[in-house]
Amino acid sequence: MEFSTKSIHTGYHKDKATGALGVPIYQVSTFDQEKLGKHKEYEYARSSNPTRKALEHSIALLENGTHAFAFSSGMAAISSTFCLFGTGDHIVVCEDVYGGTYRVLTKLFSKFGIEASFVDTTDTSNIANEIKSNTKAIYLETPSNPLLKITDLRKAFAVAKEHNLISIVDNTFMTPYLQRPLDLGADIVLHSATKFLGGHSDLIAGVAVTRNDTIAKRLGFVQNAFGAILGPQDCYLLIRGLKTLKIRMDYYEQSALTIALYLSSQESVKKVYYPGLNTHVGRDIHSEQAQGNGAVVSFELYDADSVERFVKKIKLAAFAVSLGGVESILSYPFTMSHASMPEIYRRKLGISDTLLRLSVGLESTQDLIADLEQALKN
Ligand SMILES: *Cc1c(COP(=O)(O)O)cnc(C)c1O
Repeated sequence: MEFSTKSIHTGYHKDKATGALGVPIYQVSTFDQEKLGKHKEYEYARSSNPTRKALEHSIALLENGTHAFAFSSGMAAISSTFCLFGTGDHIVVCEDVYGGTYRVLTKLFSKFGIEASFVDTTDTSNIANEIKSNTKAIYLETPSNPLLKITDLRKAFAVAKEHNLISIVDNTFMTPYLQRPLDLGADIVLHSATKFLGGHSDLIAGVAVTRNDTIAKRLGFVQNAFGAILGPQDCYLLIRGLKTLKIRMDYYEQSALTIALYLSSQESVKKVYYPGLNTHVGRDIHSEQAQGNGAVVSFELYDADSVERFVKKIKLAAFAVSLGGVESILSYPFTMSHASMPEIYRRKLGISDTLLRLSVGLESTQDLIADLEQALKN
């Protein structure tokens, strides 16, 4: 079955009790039990809730996984996944990882004795070189945020397999429509569902997906024990968002390429980062592991003053953190998404004070370009 059909015909698209086309919001905390010591399928909503179960089923289906777990945020999904590890364990992480992931590893999990090394995974030999006797996992994002650097997933997973490591991919930027890391050999796929999966800038959510039964058991244990679950209202919104994921991504991609080409042709723009551009480093690897280039275009202007004037003049795109909504969102990674990294580290990665990131929305491409044009004239 193709992706678009799967995202509608999930197996939970008709309510068994009433025939309603959609999953009801089960706004409950607990479920009536049959008799002493015997409950029905559901017992307590931290452990499982029918609305959440329908969502988890859909996400697993779309990522070609067998188990999915919904959490109260992307960071809750990521942190709950790190709870699979313990004191003395070491994880190799891509150096331009999401700022919040960097923060939780260096400021929180470090306190519990979990060690992380941040390496440039665009060269997979750097991963192999960093592996120690206590290394348990590799953690990747590709294309990365905000410079859209490409890591060769197949090569990285081969290194992981050779050393018996769990491979984890944050697939937020691509979504399961454009990239399915489990098919390429990943063990766990994570999402900030706040972004494209939800798609409407109206919820905070995260998911973890796997097809490995042992890992699924452990993730299910953490989800229930730690308890950072997604509530039924947000599960409902996320189910709703998933139904239009494909058509949103198709539109974004067309528009983002047109905008990336437009920006590349502008003298006031120093550099454009978009995997759909012929000049993008790693583009060939990307096109072998993903079916598209996504909605995020990053670009650099020449100086911080021009950035300030540009941000002041831009009208259509919201100037905000986050991405993946129906509305275009412009952000400034240096002080927004990556503020939680030390400045010296941001600069090393190329996240400079002249870099802007645009998440292209569903507005007319021509209107967006006209807006960029007037904002660039300064
Ligand atoms: C936003 C984001 C996160 C964090 O997700 P929240 O839903 O904000 O907790 C993690 N990874 C990536 C790539 C993100 O863009």
